[in-house]
Amino acid sequence: MKYLKAVLVGLGLAQLATLITTIYLHRVLSHKAIRLHPALTMFMRFGTWMLTSISPREWVAVHRKHHNFSDVEGDPHSPHIEGYWKIMIANVYYYRREANDDNTMEKYASDLPFDRLDKTLLRNGTLGFSLTGVILTLLMGFKPGLVAVSTLASVYLLLNAAINGAGHTFGYKSFENDATNLKLLALITFGEGLHNNHHARPASPKLSAFEGEIDPAWPVIRLLQKLRLAEILTKADEGWENHRRRLPEPTVLRLAAGIATADANSSMKKSA
Ligand SMILES: [Zn+2]
Ligand SMILES: [Zn+2]
Repeated sequence: MKYLKAVLVGLGLAQLATLITTIYLHRVLSHKAIRLHPALTMFMRFGTWMLTSISPREWVAVHRKHHNFSDVEGDPHSPHIEGYWKIMIANVYYYRREANDDNTMEKYASDLPFDRLDKTLLRNGTLGFSLTGVILTLLMGFKPGLVAVSTLASVYLLLNAAINGAGHTFGYKSFENDATNLKLLALITFGEGLHNNHHARPASPKLSAFEGEIDPAWPVIRLLQKLRLAEILTKADEGWENHRRRLPEPTVLRLAAGIATADANSSMKKSA
């Protein structure tokens, strides 16, 4: 029973780590779609440190480079270049390989310099994650604590690998890019599984675009907005139509017709 509880604690923490990743590392820092209240930013920084051991600066740089070179030479973790199973199994290796490149850091994350808190504490990610391990073993006992922290680490790594691997291999495409949408993966990654939508509009604060798609982080972001802990900086629902739809064909034609009409209207206004 205590091991079942340990696994559930690990799963819960992996979900919290995934939520922090999509809101803070991804939508706030990498794409600047949302701004957080300083108190919530501090919570996110410590959450990232203790649950993932990730350096936000490194994560952002690797991720922005991924957008710049999606599935072509230069992509830090493309299943089309490296192979699907290599990304699923060794995602961390490909991430570290890019994060260790000073040029990548300089080019893609120069807007995120280390502050004093990073330099004195948060840069040491191993310390943050070890602290979580120590707290869990003190609270739950040595072995259940280890089970909880191992569950956290393995599930978090697997979900991230699935976004980079499966999210560029399986699923449907609404837009013309190499990423794919997986509704089921989106449910357990707080929306990140809608990766084709994300590559179409990286700066959207919401990852679901059409009916039937669920981005579980979106209601959380709206709640934070209501509590005045978050500010949404970019458009959530408008703008999808400006991106070329891939399927189905009639929609593309309708959209093309709509855009042509809009263009005609605006040029008519200009000439009037
Ligand atoms: Zn991608
Ligand atoms: Zn992104």
